[in-house]
Amino acid sequence: MGTFRYNARRRIKEPAVNRVAEIFDEWARNGRADGMERGHAPAARMAFDRLRLGPESCFLDIGCGNGYAARWAAAASPRGQAVGLDLSSEMIDHARLLSAGLSNVEFLTGSFPDIELPRGPFDAIFSMEVFYYLPDLDAALRRARDLLRPGGSFACVVDYYGENTASHAWPGDLGVGMTLLDSAGWADAFRRAGIAVSEQRRLRIPKELATAAWKTTEGSLLTLGRSEEELGMIAHD
Ligand code: SAH
Repeated sequence: MGTFRYNARRRIKEPAVNRVAEIFDEWARNGRADGMERGHAPAARMAFDRLRLGPESCFLDIGCGNGYAARWAAAASPRGQAVGLDLSSEMIDHARLLSAGLSNVEFLTGSFPDIELPRGPFDAIFSMEVFYYLPDLDAALRRARDLLRPGGSFACVVDYYGENTASHAWPGDLGVGMTLLDSAGWADAFRRAGIAVSEQRRLRIPKELATAAWKTTEGSLLTLGRSEEELGMIAHD
């Protein structure tokens, strides 16, 4: 675990990305990383299950936070490999602590999409609440496509999106730029990057698990892609 070390800071040229790293370093220090796991896990698990990992799958979590999804993957794929990547080195330190003893999970600090990865192609890529932070979304989606094996799946979940008006104040609240797209905009962005959208739906969770009202009404937006050009059908909820 964690054998690959990468000096991310040297590669980060965007001031906005540095601001995001500072915010999440702080969240890793003050316990909010684990709060995010509690808040995100119910919808994240629904998305994760759609990736249908097998016992030998190779899995990548982009913006892994405290690493909970990489640990799910390590458990689901005992003979596979799970990689968690995050911009915040303090998130990664925390994720490594929480994953001590797991031999098939590793964590890397770095800025997606620029980071060089020691593994790949991946059978499955997962990302929860990350892609709208990325300054060049199209480049990030193209990189995700390139990291997938043919037929591999990418589950991209966002809570900040057009239809979820309760989320629209977040860039102002956090003081960082975010890309606001509605469901159709996310599907278009996937297709522009050469990722076929196999399913798009709003993941709504039961009231007793919800940490905010919109999680039961609007829900989290899942866009599930496959790295095959021919697939073009979208299953709507
Ligand atoms: N997926 C986790 C964390 C979500 S918070 C969860 O569900 O709890 C968003 C995370 O994305 C933060 O940990 C942040 O550091 C990371 N992130 C933001 N921009 C990134 C980038 N360019 N490359 C890698 N990680 C990034």
